[in-house]
Amino acid sequence: MGYLDGFRITLKQMWGDRVTNVYPDEKRPKPDRFHGRHVLNRYEDGMEKCIGCELCAGVCPARCIYVRGADNPPDEPVSPGERFGFVYEINYLRCIHCDLCVEACPTEAITESKLFEFSFTDRQDAIYTKAELVVDDDGNPQKLPWEDWRPGDEQHTSAWVRATAPSGSAAYEGRVGWSGELGFGVRAPEKGQTAETDRAASAAPRKAKS
Ligand code: SF4
Ligand code: SF4
Repeated sequence: MGYLDGFRITLKQMWGDRVTNVYPDEKRPKPDRFHGRHVLNRYEDGMEKCIGCELCAGVCPARCIYVRGADNPPDEPVSPGERFGFVYEINYLRCIHCDLCVEACPTEAITESKLFEFSFTDRQDAIYTKAELVVDDDGNPQKLPWEDWRPGDEQHTSAWVRATAPSGSAAYEGRVGWSGELGFGVRAPEKGQTAETDRAASAAPRKAKS
């Protein structure tokens, strides 16, 4: 290719549709199932959803979650039930954002936002504590100084799929279903995966495996 051909291609591209954007000035919408930094959700009455069961830590392939449960104080329970997450830490120097912790959690306490713009100059900052992970009183993620949150980002939760029944609902037995995330408010189920369609599918007779 001669240099004139090169100029021609360059000039053509200058006036054509751009395939790049001006990130980081503008952020592109993330895909539905994008996995970002985690949050620990609460119920609408303020109680924490985490019951300190350690299933998330047990399933994590990167071994980056540390949980220690404790008995709920009878007079001032932190979560419904017997136990709560007394210590909860995620080490983001190791997390691979596989979402297995989210799938394992029986109470939907841990979910992921879509925020990936967080970097640290101090290794200690990479270890998120429970105080940093628990959503605020409005159910939104706390915005830490080294994170790049833009207006509306907190509404973008990771749409996630779980292989077990959400909240133990028998209607979802054996079905993959989407769940609202109360910590953020209830998110609409993904198209084609409403509770109604899943219930209908569950009720339909299953074909025998050949
Ligand atoms: S997303 Fe995966 S690697 Fe990260 S904390 Fe959860 S289970 Fe561990
Ligand atoms: S986040 Fe979920 S799986 Fe992890 S300890 Fe809390 S309740 Fe158990």
